[in-house]
Amino acid sequence: MNRVVMKFGGSSVATIEKMKAVSNRVITRKNQGEDVVVVVSAMGKTTNQLLELAAQASRNPSKREIDLLLSTGEQVSVSLITMIFNDLGYPAIGLTGQQAGIKTVGLHTKNKIDDIDPSKIIKHLSDGKIVVVAGFQGINEEGDITTLGRGGSDTTAVALAAKLDCNAEIYTDVSGIYGVDPRLYPNASQLSAITYEEMKEMAFLGAKVMEPRSIEIGHRFNVNILVASAHSDEPGTWIKENVPMEHKSITGISVSENVILVSLHHLPPKAKVVADLFIKLAQSEINVDIISQNMTPQGTMDIAFTASMDDMATVHAVLDSIQITHPQAHITIDPDIVKVSVVGSGMRTQSGVAAKLFELFSQNDIDFKLVTTSEISISYTMDKSLKTKAVSLIAEAFNL
Ligand code: ASP
Ligand code: MG
Repeated sequence: MNRVVMKFGGSSVATIEKMKAVSNRVITRKNQGEDVVVVVSAMGKTTNQLLELAAQASRNPSKREIDLLLSTGEQVSVSLITMIFNDLGYPAIGLTGQQAGIKTVGLHTKNKIDDIDPSKIIKHLSDGKIVVVAGFQGINEEGDITTLGRGGSDTTAVALAAKLDCNAEIYTDVSGIYGVDPRLYPNASQLSAITYEEMKEMAFLGAKVMEPRSIEIGHRFNVNILVASAHSDEPGTWIKENVPMEHKSITGISVSENVILVSLHHLPPKAKVVADLFIKLAQSEINVDIISQNMTPQGTMDIAFTASMDDMATVHAVLDSIQITHPQAHITIDPDIVKVSVVGSGMRTQSGVAAKLFELFSQNDIDFKLVTTSEISISYTMDKSLKTKAVSLIAEAFNL
C-alpha cells in the first residue's frame, strides 16, 4: 500500500489561506490513492512569540512549562488544518504527539524520540482518514508533554516515516537543496539527490535546510526524504542512501562563518603542553575542530585550532590560564575567518580533488590557513574577505 508522510513548516501554514493551499496538495495525493500522514509545525512565528510570552511571565520559566506552552503552537495548526480537510469532504483526524503514540526521553525542551506506537495512526489510515500529527512534540514516561528542540517537526516527520515504512516529504520555503548557497554563487544549480552522509556533512558544516537530527534518523532507518517547495510543483531534492554516481566528485560547498581561529606561538615543544591545552578546552566543553601543530626552527612549538564563535568567551578564559602558565607564548584569536568545505561522496573513489583545489587556490591567490579532510570532505579556513571568491572559483571549476 502507498503511504506518505508530508510535513509542512511554519511558513507554509502561517495563515488559513496557506493552510488551504497546503490541503489541496495533500488532497491531490489522497485522490491518487495514497494514505497520507500530515505533520505540521506551528503557524508562522508562533513558537518565537510563545517564547517571548514566557520571557515576560518569568525570568526563569521552568522547562516543563515551556514544553507545555510551546506544544500548543502545533496543536493550533493541527486542529485548523484538520477542520479544513473535513470541510472539503475529506475525513481527517488531528492528533497531538501523545495521541500519535510519540514517546520521548530526555530533558524538557530537548527531548528525543524514544519510540512510536503507530497503531492509532494505522487504524485511522485504514479507516480512510487523512491523519494530521503535531510536529515537534511527544510524551515522556511521566506523562508530561515534551518538545524536541527547535525545528523538531522535521524529526517528527522522518521518525514517523521510519515507523510507517514510507517516504518523508518535507515541504518548505526553498525549492530544494543547492550544492552551493545561491546567495554566494548565483549560478548554483539545485541537486536532484544527495546522500545522507553528504547532507549531514553539509548540515553540520553550515547548511540549514533541515534539522540535522532528522537526517540522522533518515540515515539510520533508511527513509527517503524529499525536500521540496510548498508553493510550487518543482521536483525538489531527494536525500537518500545511494545517489547515481555518474555524478560529480563534489556535491556541494558549505561555508561556516561561525568560527574563530586560535593561534599559539612560542610554546615549549612538549607533548604535555599540547595535552594540557586540549584537556582544559575539553573540560570547558569546547568543541575544537581543525587542529594543526608544528615545531619551529627555533625549537619552539606552534599550535592552531578552530572553534565555534559561540564559545569565544570560554576559549578566552582557557587561553588566559595558558598564558599565565606560559608567559612567553604569543596567543591570538582571529574571528574574521570562514571555513569553506567541499563535500562529496565521490571523493571516496575519485582522487585528485585536493590537488585540483590546491592548484586553483594557488593560481588565484587564495591563501588559506588550516586544512582538514574527512572521507568525503576537505575544509579550508581562510580570511572572510576571500569567501565569495573562493566559493565561486570552486563552484565553477567543479561545475556545481
Ligand atoms: N515550531 C517549532 C519551531 O519553531 C518546531 C518546528 O517548526 O519544526 O522550532
Ligand atoms: Mg523548520
